[in-house]
Amino acid sequence: MATQTECFNLKDAISKQAEATFVDTQTLYRELHRTPELPFQEYKTSARLADALESLDYEVTRGVGGTGVVALMHNGSGRTVMLRGDMDALPIKEETGLDFASNETTTTSDGNEIPLMHACGHDLHSSCIVGTAAVMAALKKHWSGTLMLICQPAEEIFGGAKAMLNDGLYERFPRPDIILGQHNMPALAGSVGHISGSAMAACTNLAVTIHGAGGHGSMPAQTVDPVVIAAHVVTRLQSIVSREVPPEETVVVTVGKLHAGTQANIIPHSAELEINIRSFDDVLHSQVVASIKRIIRAECEAGRSPKLPEFRTLNETIALHNDPMAVEHVRHAHTEYFGDANLFAMPRLNASEDFPLLGNAEVGGFGGKDIPYVYWFIGATPAERWAKTLGTSVSQKMRHLEMPHSPYYFPGNDVTLRTGIEAMATGALAYLA
Ligand code: ZN
Repeated sequence: MATQTECFNLKDAISKQAEATFVDTQTLYRELHRTPELPFQEYKTSARLADALESLDYEVTRGVGGTGVVALMHNGSGRTVMLRGDMDALPIKEETGLDFASNETTTTSDGNEIPLMHACGHDLHSSCIVGTAAVMAALKKHWSGTLMLICQPAEEIFGGAKAMLNDGLYERFPRPDIILGQHNMPALAGSVGHISGSAMAACTNLAVTIHGAGGHGSMPAQTVDPVVIAAHVVTRLQSIVSREVPPEETVVVTVGKLHAGTQANIIPHSAELEINIRSFDDVLHSQVVASIKRIIRAECEAGRSPKLPEFRTLNETIALHNDPMAVEHVRHAHTEYFGDANLFAMPRLNASEDFPLLGNAEVGGFGGKDIPYVYWFIGATPAERWAKTLGTSVSQKMRHLEMPHSPYYFPGNDVTLRTGIEAMATGALAYLA
């Protein structure tokens, strides 16, 4: 068991190493920020990260699950701790005005030029992985076990975790005893937020095609109008949350895309919908998806649709449940390091992550027992801005600040970057020291 003095020394050593490596991490972060890449296209990003990890003497494997990177440091007997950072960016035009803002664009398969931005701070997460790698390498004689770092592609489309698992993440590399991950958010920079148990929602994005029989706008009787069917579908779907879901549960059903037709005098042949479903309970989630399909089939029948509707799951992920014992363990380590005043109780978020797939043996498809995980949050709002923001609690202030995916969102200030490294290193050492 560690004594007070040893605890203090380790804390001091983490801080000193984080300081020593900070400029390198900041440089890497700014480079990544300037050159964002879309999910599964993180070629330059992953090469930079892999090079940086290799130069720190990690055993690096590239191209895991597409562009994923796995870095290992074997350091004697003990646990295997996996730290995860994601790498992908978004099709958003950056408006932060930073001198290292992105001007990058890419051309989609249909020939459109789209802007690119790290608007969710995944550049920050993967830079923190490298910063933590440097701290852990420098402190090698103070811990034992195996450190496994992963830079994951395609979080935004819930594809990367699954791709890495399908590429043998836990067969080709050690199966971890614990997985740690983090995300930035609008909270005071320098603070770390924890939440035990249910933390983030399950999410399914469903595409639907409703078939009609197109024709002249003046002769509706000779057609089947998919616009009218789609309109009924959108309205009727609202009754799932209000009439089929117990009031104490949180479920969202949003029709985010509804597309049919080209001009006023043509009744189109089909209508396309995209539906976003969120919930915190995997069983209830499947029930809601089943209800959506039942209602759409029934509305198609009611509207004389000549063909059954088609459903396509665009992407999906499960709810995030932080392991309560592991959260306590990590929170304790963070309290020792950052002090109680710099920790906050994270409210449950309706956003979603593919991180939980890495710990769920059944849905993750890797078999055996689930792997416990802790996913915490690091504040990204500078102190001055935070003080001026309306409200007292994190939840209240959050409503007045830019959120991830905004063209103005910028989490990569120096305090947040430093906190991300220290939170990861402290979390890892809580299992390895
Ligand atoms: Zn994100």
